[in-house]
Amino acid sequence: MPASEALDPGQALGVLDAELARGLALIGGAAGRDALDEAESALLGRKSPFSGIQRGLGGLSEKDRRRIGQRTNEVRGALRSAIASRRETLEAERERALLEADRIDVTLPGRRLRPGSLHPLTLLQNRIVDIFTGMGYRVVEGPEVETEWYNFDALNIPPDHPARKTTDTLYLSTPGEPRVLRTETSAMQIRTMESQPPPVYVIAPGRVFRNEATDATHLAVFHQVEGLAVDEDITFADLKGTLETFYRALLGQERRIRLTPSFFPFVEPGAQVEVTCFVCGGVGCRTCGNGWIEGMGCGMVHPRVLENVGYDPERYSGFAFGGGIDRMAMLRYGFPDIRMLLENDVRFLAQFEGAT
Ligand SMILES: [Zn+2]
Repeated sequence: MPASEALDPGQALGVLDAELARGLALIGGAAGRDALDEAESALLGRKSPFSGIQRGLGGLSEKDRRRIGQRTNEVRGALRSAIASRRETLEAERERALLEADRIDVTLPGRRLRPGSLHPLTLLQNRIVDIFTGMGYRVVEGPEVETEWYNFDALNIPPDHPARKTTDTLYLSTPGEPRVLRTETSAMQIRTMESQPPPVYVIAPGRVFRNEATDATHLAVFHQVEGLAVDEDITFADLKGTLETFYRALLGQERRIRLTPSFFPFVEPGAQVEVTCFVCGGVGCRTCGNGWIEGMGCGMVHPRVLENVGYDPERYSGFAFGGGIDRMAMLRYGFPDIRMLLENDVRFLAQFEGAT
């Protein structure tokens, strides 16, 4: 109702009563906060019939103005208090619904936190390192990119050795001296001896690389642990005793080892270690076949290798041993495919939670 239009007092009272009735119904029926806001605006907003009457009050006689004005105040008060009360109710209902949704059932079993676990290779490497540091060895680590000198020549591997072919070794196409992704951790023998005089007792864990197709038992990137001891009066018996102590600590005190002759250019004589199976105890089973599990390669450090680093082979002798630990992890933890070590499948890795 435009303000300029004269207000009919009788009609205005009727409108106020109607608006009060309509308003209480609207407010009571508002199902949510938005609906209530809408009702408030329709009843008391600028375009509402109620506001029209308010604006028209000024054009009435004093008597009518007081009468209609008083009724206007009553109706507004009634509507406002109905809105406030409805708002409170809606708020309480909403709160109750939220609480219900967030209700905590303290009788439910707790959800277990998964703290993660060490990778099986890390577990095994840590264990091996622990055993050797317990025997007085120091851990050394070195570069994964090596020169041919450190990776081959200094280790007495001749230039025509098949291991140096690109079918076996990954060469980098960098300028200058040819560089390779190290094919074994043995280069650390050389780097260590170059950097210090004897005695040397070191263990070198690390990644190595071969130009090899991967299958269930082979990886192109795998992990080795290399050991080196150089001192006065080191004999083959020291080597055997050290390896026996190591394998017993790793796989059980009842393990036995045997050494069979083998050839590696950087040792003389060289041998291959085998250890009695930790599953069947050496009688033969699916894990081992004939009761023996192939272990590391080893031998007495070749005098030429000692000469290459400036040690006197007449005065010092030493032994070295080394081998992959990926296959050992397969045996120790009993999984069928070596590639599982690289897949990062959490269903596989989670099984090592708490393992040693
Ligand atoms: Zn066995």
